[in-house]
Amino acid sequence: MVDPTSDLGEDVDEEDAPECATCGTKIVQLPSHRVVSWVEDGRAHHRHFCSEECLADDDEL
Ligand SMILES: [Zn+2]
Repeated sequence: MVDPTSDLGEDVDEEDAPECATCGTKIVQLPSHRVVSWVEDGRAHHRHFCSEECLADDDEL
């Protein structure tokens, strides 16, 4: 059941949560969450990381 009052991006279901691109951790309400975004072929891409450490460990950027 969809609750229309919770559509503010604050209650992210675990199934909808992004995964850390390095370690695969589901990122839910993590204050250390980092997002890297870039544009490729005219489309926006995003990579999510659970921490600065995983961001630094990413080898695809
Ligand atoms: Zn991670």
